[in-house]
Amino acid sequence: MKQGRFSPGFLILVILVAVIALFVTFFPQSPIIPQQPISEIIAMAEKGQVKSIEVEGNQLLVTTTQGEQFKSLKESSSSIYELLGPASKNIEVGIKPESSFDWSRLLMGMLPFLFIGALLFFMLRSARGAGGQAFNFGRSQARVIVGNKPTVTFNDVAGVDEAKGELEEVVEFLKTPEKFLALGARIPRGVLLIGPPGTGKTLLARAIAGEAEVPFFSISGSEFVEMFVGVGASRVRDLFNQAKRSAPCIVFVDEIDAVGRHRGAGLGGGHDEREQTLNQILVEMDGFDSHTNVIVLSATNRPDILDPALLRPGRFDRVVVLDRPDINGRKAILEVHAKGKPLAESVDLNTLAKETAGLSGADLANLVNEASILAARRDKKAVEMIEFEEAIDRVIAGPERKSRVISHQEKKMIAYHESGHALVAKMLPRADPVHKISIIARGMMGGYTRLLPAEDRYLWTRSQFNDTLAVDLAGRAAEELMFGEISTGSGSDLEQATILARKMVTEYGMSDKLGPRTFGHKEQLVFLGKEITEQRNYGEKVAQEIDEEVYVLVDQAYSVARGLLTHHKAKLIQIAERLLAEESIEGEELEKLFNEPVSSPEALLPIHQG
Ligand code: ADP
Ligand code: MG
Ligand code: ZN
Repeated sequence: MKQGRFSPGFLILVILVAVIALFVTFFPQSPIIPQQPISEIIAMAEKGQVKSIEVEGNQLLVTTTQGEQFKSLKESSSSIYELLGPASKNIEVGIKPESSFDWSRLLMGMLPFLFIGALLFFMLRSARGAGGQAFNFGRSQARVIVGNKPTVTFNDVAGVDEAKGELEEVVEFLKTPEKFLALGARIPRGVLLIGPPGTGKTLLARAIAGEAEVPFFSISGSEFVEMFVGVGASRVRDLFNQAKRSAPCIVFVDEIDAVGRHRGAGLGGGHDEREQTLNQILVEMDGFDSHTNVIVLSATNRPDILDPALLRPGRFDRVVVLDRPDINGRKAILEVHAKGKPLAESVDLNTLAKETAGLSGADLANLVNEASILAARRDKKAVEMIEFEEAIDRVIAGPERKSRVISHQEKKMIAYHESGHALVAKMLPRADPVHKISIIARGMMGGYTRLLPAEDRYLWTRSQFNDTLAVDLAGRAAEELMFGEISTGSGSDLEQATILARKMVTEYGMSDKLGPRTFGHKEQLVFLGKEITEQRNYGEKVAQEIDEEVYVLVDQAYSVARGLLTHHKAKLIQIAERLLAEESIEGEELEKLFNEPVSSPEALLPIHQG
C-alpha cells in the first residue's frame, strides 16, 4: 500500500531538515551584535574608546566605553597585542580558549548523513510494509487461514457430491487421526483436485479451510516462480517447515501446473527453475513420516501436463475429479446462488438447469448475477424468467448488439440461415431439439440457434454425430437453396463440422472404410498450455483416405440437410419470415410455429425480388 509513496512522517522529516539547513546558512552567528572591521577597532582603541576585548580564537568581542558591543575578526597568526600596539594598555583583554565545539558547523557536517539515514530508514520500512518482498525472497508467501470463522462451507458447494464426500473424509482424518491409525490406515499425503476451469476447485478448497478447524496454508503455484533461480525451491522448503511446525494442518497449492509440469518438457527458458521447485515439492512430500498430519491439497485444470512423479502413491495419492455439473448439479448450484435473491414466481430452476447443459459452476454463478443485474436495470422488484433467459443468451453468445446496422438483405440471409439450422434440427430424430432462434446480433454472431439437449450426454453414437453434422451444415444449405448464393456466415459452422467429421474418422473409428482404429498421436509438448504438434503415425496413402472419408461424411450430411430443406421449403419460408418479423422466437412459441400448417400462400412467394 505504501509502496512507491512517501509516508507523511517522511515528508515532515524532510521539511524539518530543510528548515534547519536554512537557519544555519543564513544566521550563522547571533544577529544582535554588529560586525566591525579590525581596522575600525584599532582606530577606536587608539582614540581610547574601547573598554575591553574578549578574544576567542580569531573572534573578537569588543565593548566600548559607551557600553556598545561589536564583533570583529583578526588574522589567526597575529596576536591582539601586536595589532593594538601601545593602545592595548588601557584595555582589558580577556583570552578564552578556542571553542572546538561549533554547533552550526557540526549540524552542517551531519546534514547529508542525516538525510541518507532517513531515506534508508523509510525505504526499509515501506519495503517491509509491502510484505517484505524486497528482502524475503526465499520465504513462502502462503496465507494462513485458521478455521474459526469459515467464510465458505461445504453447503456453498453444490452438485459435486462425490468430491465433497472424498474431502469430508480427509477432514475427518485430520480431526480424528487415531480412528484411522488404529486400523493401520495411512493418512493420505496429498489430494489432487482435477477439473475444467470454474468447476469449483478453489471453492472446495476454501470450504475445507472453513470446515477442518486446522491451520490452512494457501498458495498459488505461480507464487513459487520468481525471476531468480532457486527461489521457488527455497519457498517450498520454507512453506513445508512452517506447515510441519503447525501440524495437523492443510497446505493448499492452487494451479499446481505452474510448477508441476512434466519435467524436461519446457520450451524456452525458465524450466530449470520450475524443475527445481517441483523436485523440492516431491522431496518434502516424501519427507513426511506417517505421523505428520500434514495433508497437501492441490488443484489443476491441466492434469495431462503434470509430471507423473507427482501422481504416484505416497504423494498425491488421491485424485478427486470435478466435472461439469449434470442437470441435478446445475439445479443445486443455481439454488445456492439464487439464495437470498428475490425470484419471481415465474422462475423455474428446473427449466434453467435443463437449458444450461455444458455450463460450469462459475458460468452458472455468473448467469444468476447477470439476471439480477438485468432485473435491477429494469427497476423490477424480483428477478423474472425473462431476465434468466436473456442472461443465458448473454453467457453463451455474448451481449446483444442492437446498434449494429444490418441491411435488410443481410438480415434476410441470416434469418434463412438460422431457420435452416432450426428446421433440420427439428426434422432429424437424433439431433437435439431447438429451443430458440434469434437474428439479433450477439458478440461476433449475426444470429444464432440454441439447441436444448433433452438430457446430459456422455456417450455419442454415430447416428447422433451424423445428424449433428447435418444440423451444422443446414445454415449454408438454406442459403444456397433460397438465394443460390452462399455467405461468410457459415464459416464457423463448416469448421465445427469438419473438426467433428475428422474426429469421427481418426479418434472414434466411425468410418467403415478405415475401420476401428485411431490415427495420429497427440504429442503433449507444452507451449502456452497447448499441444503444438500432432504426430502422424500413418503414411501418405492413409492420410489421403482420411481426407476422403472426412469429405464423404460432410458431403453426406450436407445432402441430408439440403434434401430436407428442399422438401420442406414452404415451412422454411414460413419460419424465416416469422423470424424476420419477430427477431427471436423461443420455447413453446417456436414449437407451435413448427406444428402450424403451411397455409399462407404469400409465404411461398419467391424471395429473389428483395
Ligand atoms: P476453479 O475450479 O477454476 O478453481 P472456482 O472454485 O474458482 O473454480 O469457482 C469459481 C466460482 O464459481 C466460485 O466462486 C463459485 O461462485 C462458482 N462455483 C463453481 N463451482 C461451484 C459449485 N459446485 N457450487 C457452487 N458454486 C460454484
Ligand atoms: Mg481455481
Ligand atoms: Zn450457422
